[in-house]
Amino acid sequence: MRKVRHATQAFFLFLTVLTGYRFYLFMSQFGSDTAEFVTRPPSVDAFMPIAGFMSLKYFIFTGIIEPIHPAAFIMFLAIVTVSLVAKKGFCGWICPIGTISQYFWMAGEKLFGKNFIMSKQYDIPVRSLKYLLMGMFILLIGVAMTPNMMVLFFITDYYKTIDVRTMQVFTQMSTLTLIVLLVIGAFSLFYKNFWCRYLCPYGALLGLVSSASPAKIKRDNDKCIDCKACTKACPSAIEVSEQDIVHSPECLGCTTCLSHCPEEGALEMTVRAGKDRKPFKPVLFPIALIVSFYLIIGIGVLTENWHSKMHPEEYERVITDIGKEHSESGQ
Ligand code: SF4
Ligand code: SF4
Repeated sequence: MRKVRHATQAFFLFLTVLTGYRFYLFMSQFGSDTAEFVTRPPSVDAFMPIAGFMSLKYFIFTGIIEPIHPAAFIMFLAIVTVSLVAKKGFCGWICPIGTISQYFWMAGEKLFGKNFIMSKQYDIPVRSLKYLLMGMFILLIGVAMTPNMMVLFFITDYYKTIDVRTMQVFTQMSTLTLIVLLVIGAFSLFYKNFWCRYLCPYGALLGLVSSASPAKIKRDNDKCIDCKACTKACPSAIEVSEQDIVHSPECLGCTTCLSHCPEEGALEMTVRAGKDRKPFKPVLFPIALIVSFYLIIGIGVLTENWHSKMHPEEYERVITDIGKEHSESGQ
């Protein structure tokens, strides 16, 4: 299963790089004489979860899917659905940032011979940072922002170009951004999934949603030999060997604990069936996860709520304006 997960993660990382490159070509063609028109890849909207969350609230109140970045809404819905079906499986199997974080701690393990675990005294307060960030976004968007305020925001050039602005965070990186990334990268070498565990507000939300997922890791006390291999292997530092059922919002559904358990049937992936839990083949977990992810995207495509309704000429105008903003600010 470990190889299947690593291959899946590498595949989605490759898709992300491809999407980023295509979006870069799309942006660059304005103001140049590109022979062939490059269309905008809608999945780039996955990088705008705040827009997706805003669109979800707007949809709940008005029944309308915001047309400039509809894929942000669809992606947000798809990722939340995956968390309802298959724990934080999006973080453990699909998210490119989760994959990069994993590559960092694996490199750290190779370099230093081990990764570190923050003591509980620091781990809990630092982990609360991501919940604070999540709470702030929920307060600002979920509570304070009314649908009328959202409409006024959706028609601004700023909103129309949030995808371009997000890309420019990386293509025209400021010194501060570089320092922040280097610091996070350094910590990620020492601590497993540092960004995901301590700072990602999206992961915090998905973790809470994942509590409702029927899929959970279950340990059979009678078969368990208490070797603690599962606890040692868990990238989310969950004490699997101490629990009957893993309810933690940090569980990525990565199945690493299953791969490391030496005792047949001691640890299983299970699904709620009435009052009991039924074990199922671990390979079905990523299948359910990916099927539910693409099912929502498929619905978005079929209902024509995937591609932006913004006309390329409007894109050209707003992108050209951003270019002028940058030359005026001397960047
Ligand atoms: S408990 Fe198992 S499935 Fe959950 S994060 Fe830890 S190793 Fe992965
Ligand atoms: S790896 Fe398996 S046998 Fe060892 S402690 Fe965990 S559940 Fe028990």
